[in-house]
Amino acid sequence: MHGKADLHTHTIHSDGTLSSSELVKKAKSAGLSVIGITDHDSVNGVDEAIAAGKEYDIGVVPGIEMSTCLNEKEIHILGYFVDHHNEQLLQSLVILRNERYKRAERIVKKLNSLNIPLKIEAVLDHAGNGSIGRPHIANAMVEKGHADSYQQAFGKYIGNGRPAYEKKLQCSPLEIIKLISEAGGLSFLAHPGNYITEGEITQIIEAGIDGIEVIHPSHDANLLQYYRGIVNNYYLLECGGSDYHGGLKGDDGLLGQITVSSQAVEAMQRRLYRNKKTQ
Ligand code: AMP
Ligand code: ZN
Ligand code: FE
Ligand code: FE
Repeated sequence: MHGKADLHTHTIHSDGTLSSSELVKKAKSAGLSVIGITDHDSVNGVDEAIAAGKEYDIGVVPGIEMSTCLNEKEIHILGYFVDHHNEQLLQSLVILRNERYKRAERIVKKLNSLNIPLKIEAVLDHAGNGSIGRPHIANAMVEKGHADSYQQAFGKYIGNGRPAYEKKLQCSPLEIIKLISEAGGLSFLAHPGNYITEGEITQIIEAGIDGIEVIHPSHDANLLQYYRGIVNNYYLLECGGSDYHGGLKGDDGLLGQITVSSQAVEAMQRRLYRNKKTQ
């Protein structure tokens, strides 16, 4: 395996705009050798991606992105090589997606009380059958003329701490790391950026995280070096990618631009092999 890998992407199964096969095809034309599919709280796009990967001759890593909460902060965790048919994982994902739906209803209610007559049906038109999230609400608000832009919808209404913000179901990093591990996968701290303290990183490492997303559009060269240092000090793995949403947030040129070497994927496979042998 050689070439470039993008290990962080979203499809219509969460808040991306492309189907899994469209995304895989696009990844191939963008010069990638491997793509990781990491929808929020869903692995429903994985089977189609694997089939498309065979058709277009590109490696597909089954993955997921999940939200956790530590010290009131929202922390995202990526899971790779999870068994996407694992019963316990699938059951938990159904619960999390239901909770997302209820939260979207609460956000719409808050918007209504702010005199914005948005209906949940308009949001569902954008979410389709995927995990419903705030990007779908932002798009529905723009479509119905309740916000000037996607960014404004977040900035004025639904962004963290804004008047129509609502939290998602809260799980600890430990719970999610355990869920991913029991589904046979490896867990990575997603885009830690500059909002996590060193103490919190240590807590997440002690909870059993396997690696850190070092490469991400929100990381500058300093953050990259900083997290690479932590990866090396604690014998962790490294991952990275573009967090591509299919053009949703003006990210259309990003696919193929923010990548890691496919050796990062080989390192994951070696770690999984070793874990199996030492079980
Ligand atoms: P959710 O999973 O429903 O909480 O939605 C999270 C998504 O909303 C992520 O993909 C973020 O990129 C996006 N998001 C969160 N805050 C903002 C913001 N202030 N501006 C634009 N997008 C945001
Ligand atoms: Zn997203
Ligand atoms: Fe994220
Ligand atoms: Fe993401």
